[in-house]
Amino acid sequence: MEISALQAVQQRVHRAMVAAGTQVRLLAVSKRQPDSAVRDLVAQGHRTFGENYVQALVARREAFQPFPLEWHLIGALQSNKCRLAAMHADWVQSIDRLDIVAQLARLRGVDRPRLNVLVEVNIDAECSKTGCAVAKLDELCAAVAAEPRLHLRGFMAIPHAHVELEARRASFARMRDLFDKARHDFDDFDTLSMGMSDDFELAIAEGATMVRVGTALFGARPE
Ligand SMILES: *Cc1c(COP(=O)(O)O)cnc(C)c1O
Repeated sequence: MEISALQAVQQRVHRAMVAAGTQVRLLAVSKRQPDSAVRDLVAQGHRTFGENYVQALVARREAFQPFPLEWHLIGALQSNKCRLAAMHADWVQSIDRLDIVAQLARLRGVDRPRLNVLVEVNIDAECSKTGCAVAKLDELCAAVAAEPRLHLRGFMAIPHAHVELEARRASFARMRDLFDKARHDFDDFDTLSMGMSDDFELAIAEGATMVRVGTALFGARPE
């Protein structure tokens, strides 16, 4: 019997995580895909989705209301979008500076659970990229942990997309080291989000606990 793309990815994640001796969550990155593609995964039992723009996340959440899906913001967050993100996201994976920490904390409603937060690390120190510099991580994590409305859960990273997969291994491994160190300092610091369609097995082998997969689940993104 033919298996679905979701089942195929789930099997690959499962094999990689058994080999690594870890637990890994699959985040389905639905950016730019039609609602029908999301509905298809929901019908197969998948519940956890990521969008890279706040407005897209809000629209998607409304389209599937009141169905209880978990929405992760994975793209860069502008200050003027913090209110919407604080209202509608379940997780924000792209925290990279102090001013958005303070705003999200202030704007997260007291009627909502704490907002789950990952600090995004610019692990390959690329000027072109978002993410917090490694030297500033301690300060940023401490600021998040001090906010009662935020729940610091771990790190996210997008390593430099070396064509050779093996060249990404060192970046994943450095993330793992940073993650293991930070786990000693914070409660519930249990999530290392790294690995995408073309490298999630490598990321899992190097310690990822959440992989963010788009293309391998949905096919190529429409323009
Ligand atoms: C688009 C995106 C992904 C998924 O990429 P694929 O290669 O399609 O799996 C993962 N993480 C982030 C931050 C993204 O923007």
